[in-house]
Amino acid sequence: MKPILQSYTSYAYAKINLSLDILGTRPDGYHEVRMLMQSLQLHDTVTLKISDTPGITMTCSDATLPVDEHNLAYRAAALFCSTYGITDGIALHLEKKIPVAAGLAGGSSDAAAVLQGLNKMYGTLATAEDLAALGVTLGADIPYCLMLGTALSEGIGERLTPLPAAPHCYCLLVKPAAGASTKQIYTEYDALVKTTDIKHPNTDLMLLALSEGNYHALVSGLCNVLEPVTTRLVPEIASIKEALQFLGADGVLMSGSGPTVFALFSDPENAKRAEAYFLQTKYAPGTFLTELKN
Ligand code: ATP
Repeated sequence: MKPILQSYTSYAYAKINLSLDILGTRPDGYHEVRMLMQSLQLHDTVTLKISDTPGITMTCSDATLPVDEHNLAYRAAALFCSTYGITDGIALHLEKKIPVAAGLAGGSSDAAAVLQGLNKMYGTLATAEDLAALGVTLGADIPYCLMLGTALSEGIGERLTPLPAAPHCYCLLVKPAAGASTKQIYTEYDALVKTTDIKHPNTDLMLLALSEGNYHALVSGLCNVLEPVTTRLVPEIASIKEALQFLGADGVLMSGSGPTVFALFSDPENAKRAEAYFLQTKYAPGTFLTELKN
């Protein structure tokens, strides 16, 4: 298989969950979810180049991340090459901007960008469906990361329905330093749900809000069943939410399994004021002001 391009740069966008519901657990242990996904402008950059060094050689701007098969971007490159019989050496560079282990699907998005980038370099070997089928074997969020925009994600995350774009707004991310693994959060959810009444999102009302372009209905419906679980482990989530509300956010929620909290603002001045506040706190390294990407 010969490439039609010697190099390619693609962007890996962060996502937030406007809602996250768990409907139950499947016999294989996977959780059946129903989530409203939304892409952000905040992104990592993936550069792919044909290289004289055989196999996949990876470099990354974040020295704490692995650059071997433990990195999802590396695994995506290896999978694409073995699936399509690519024997060229591939040099992969990842410029990280998305906070790691944050509930923003950084790793999944990097993997999606690698699959799309290699597909472009080799003259579109795969259809969008082929890439999604390949991606889901690496991670349930990867099919969404290939699609982007506003979408309903169901099943284990592989059943996707594109939705009308969410109304434009600003999004401030605040990530506490402490975190917990996604696996641990889902396990704790299973225990907590047996003893506690957890608030579930009204996803159908959120879908209606999106179809009507009703920003106020959308922000008032933000809800994530994992938020009370992660907040027990990372109590700072509650005080970050409180401060964001005080600073004029229209809606505030934890994304994914956390611990990042996001706040939506229609007014850019309020968004910048809240950003300036958090940049003066210990949360400065985890504070990012961005916008929705549709
Ligand atoms: P999700 O929202 O899908 O749960 P996340 O944002 O919580 O994802 P990631 O940033 O993808 O989490 O990182 C989760 C773990 O995966 C990290 O601990 C990290 O070591 C590992 N990892 C592997 N590849 C990557 C990558 N390309 N970028 C970030 N983390 C990666």
